[in-house]
Amino acid sequence: MRADENRLRADLEILQRIADANGGIRAVGTSGYEAAVDAAAASLEDIGFAVETPSVSFTGFIELPGASLTVDGRTFAAPDELHALIYSAGGDVTGPVAVLDESGCEPGQFADVPSGAIVLTTGGGCFRRDQALNAADAGAAAFVVGYPDRGAGEIYRPTLIDPAGITIPVVSVTDDGVRALRDAEGDDAHLAVETERAPATLRNVIASLGEGPSVLMLGAHLDSVLDGPGLNDNGSGVVALLEVARAIVETGVPEGWTVRIGLWGGEEFGDIGSRAYVETSGDDVAAYLNLDMAGSPNGATLVYDEAGAPSGSEEITRAFEAWLDARGEPHAPVDIGGSSDHFAFGQAGTPTGGLFAGASETGSAAQPAASGSTGGPADACYHLACDDLDNVDVARVALFAEATLGVAYALMEGGIEP
Ligand SMILES: [Zn+2]
Repeated sequence: MRADENRLRADLEILQRIADANGGIRAVGTSGYEAAVDAAAASLEDIGFAVETPSVSFTGFIELPGASLTVDGRTFAAPDELHALIYSAGGDVTGPVAVLDESGCEPGQFADVPSGAIVLTTGGGCFRRDQALNAADAGAAAFVVGYPDRGAGEIYRPTLIDPAGITIPVVSVTDDGVRALRDAEGDDAHLAVETERAPATLRNVIASLGEGPSVLMLGAHLDSVLDGPGLNDNGSGVVALLEVARAIVETGVPEGWTVRIGLWGGEEFGDIGSRAYVETSGDDVAAYLNLDMAGSPNGATLVYDEAGAPSGSEEITRAFEAWLDARGEPHAPVDIGGSSDHFAFGQAGTPTGGLFAGASETGSAAQPAASGSTGGPADACYHLACDDLDNVDVARVALFAEATLGVAYALMEGGIEP
């Protein structure tokens, strides 16, 4: 099958229009997400799948306008130079600035931090949640994640995954904020941020075709971040699966199988939709394939090959590699550490796999030399307002759709045990 690039572009345009009509975003808890659910459900129904949109309870998150950090007479303010991380507590705190030499991923790294401090780290390598919990346990008044290489307007706000245990303000700052905090070590700084964390619901889109007892599931998250329209992340994965769905309707589902498509809500808040699905209804899934960022403009073809994936996943990796080799497409393995919706399936023992075109990494995760990318970040607009229609390499989305379809049939027609 050849994916139709014009149709992929038309499907992407629908998501762009939805974002444009809803304040520029499609994040869970917003009208843009609701419109995206309705549109995707209608598309899958038109294509010929049976569609449901089950609701999932979660904790919504809003950062109120006006957050700011004042250091040495300079103020760094939201939305350009400072943001609360998703699920941060609010607070109005004054305390001495402490700068960690290390990431803060280990509790012991806070040993020299005075109680009541506003603590900066520029390191990572673990969940932001773990750093924030360690900071709170050490008696910090607030925790600041610094991005020394990002300027005003390019700020990230990662998720703390769950509000549980997050009792202090946790914010991110850009380059100038990092410099100011480093220069002010030991001096008092002032941070004020207000957030709302309240019960909410979101909908997943679950679409099925076929009657067989064995289920092959294909998934992509449908929500954007709070800061942009999310056309590459992850409109690209969504429209690729719509194209795969059309081809499956045309070819038919093999005897004994059901193909199920999951378009997840709340990946950007912490894999909320996929985790809820696995907890309640994922028991019958024989294998799960994930597409999250399929059209990074300076991207590569990266095949999930994850150390933490359950047995059977290797077979999926090999199936993708074999398909790409047969097509003569360069590719490289990638271990994204379960940092998307396949994580919950893997935790439940379901074999997982997928394709990734790269995000903001310029190092090992993007592997540009091995995979055909030309260097630089795979997606310079990752999690930013510029992740729009122009930020998607539709040819790669088409390739990913074709590869996913090929692997889906390879698995159903004998590659993987039902
Ligand atoms: Zn994503």
